[in-house]
Amino acid sequence: MAAKSRHLNKIEPWHDPEERPYVYIENLTKDYDGSIAVDEVTLSVYRGELFSLLGRSGCGKSTLLRMLAGFEIPSSGRIYIDGIDMSGIPPHRRPVSMVFQSYALFPHMNVEQNVAFGLKQEKLPKSQINERVNDVLELVQMLDFKKRKPHQLSGGQRQRIALARSLVKRPKLLLLDEPLAALDKKLREKTQLELVNIQEEVGITFIMVSHDQEEAMTMASRIGIMADGRIIQVGTPTEIYEYPNSKYVSNFVGTINMFEGVVMEEEENYAVVRSSVLDEINIMVEHSTSAAIGAHVSIAIRPEKVVISKRPPKDRNYNCVKGIVQDIVYLGDVSIYHVELANGRIVYSTATNLFRIAERPIQWDDEVYLYWLPENSILLTA
Ligand code: ADP
Ligand code: MG
Repeated sequence: MAAKSRHLNKIEPWHDPEERPYVYIENLTKDYDGSIAVDEVTLSVYRGELFSLLGRSGCGKSTLLRMLAGFEIPSSGRIYIDGIDMSGIPPHRRPVSMVFQSYALFPHMNVEQNVAFGLKQEKLPKSQINERVNDVLELVQMLDFKKRKPHQLSGGQRQRIALARSLVKRPKLLLLDEPLAALDKKLREKTQLELVNIQEEVGITFIMVSHDQEEAMTMASRIGIMADGRIIQVGTPTEIYEYPNSKYVSNFVGTINMFEGVVMEEEENYAVVRSSVLDEINIMVEHSTSAAIGAHVSIAIRPEKVVISKRPPKDRNYNCVKGIVQDIVYLGDVSIYHVELANGRIVYSTATNLFRIAERPIQWDDEVYLYWLPENSILLTA
């Protein structure tokens, strides 16, 4: 899987020291009678971002989102939105709207009434309500379905109405809790793109919860990886994918080859690691974190960075192992090769299919060489 990254209009505001975060979460904790759902989270989200909170079920994503919305009171810590401390500010006074995992549409109201509901409560003039409802239904391409009731809509259409109902209130910050979870895979992928387009069009800040890493990778400007109530890493999809900061993140985000080893040499820009599971070859790693000689570390290498070939690379006494092709998973544009080393360990290599399948040069049971560049192996100490 390739990591895609979206571009904000401004150049990466998180790298701009002048830029103030739009949402600033400081040491936020939620303790449910001794069980910690959110644990000392500090996080900055910038205006116009589509920020994704990604993590397994139960890691605290919804709780964090609910505290932002004001539905849940933090045990400690603070939330600032546009520089204003949200402590004690009720949900309806925050510049925030939330799209729930279950769309929670009113079943007895039609689409138009569902979307208009919030504005009616705010007692806006009727003409203004009509105009705003029409605009937002046009935006989500549901204008023709105005008079339908929720049960007459598909899952994807209901999702768009839930989105419209939130957007019509013109929040500055939209919170989305697994908004696409109820859709099947194909529709979900289509809706992901629609949602990104809508976000770019309206230009408001989105914070979206997801447990699907591909979804987050495709949609988000940046991702915050959560586990056990904590944020483990924050970065662009590319940063998270190419430079995971821990074993947890590298395993969680996409397929990865992971080998335990011991640091043998330690230089300023690279280290040499020896791994018994990789036939005791020298592994050269470019790295920024330091690891002492003798330290036990892990080396992570993405399958698409591993070159597979029937011929050995020239003049190479590192980052190269030999094995037998045990399985080939054909995925259309790419194939994943499962290569078994002499010690039984499987190494994965993903290669683009340049040949038609009948002409594929590497076959089952072929002896192959696997090799990769020092800059493509990640040294993990955590
Ligand atoms: P996620 O959205 O990542 O799946 P949640 O934020 O819903 O996770 O839940 C995080 C943890 O907090 C879970 O262990 C959950 O059981 C617990 N939790 C959530 N809401 C409550 C609550 N109202 N009372 C007690 N525990 C809760
Ligand atoms: Mg949840």
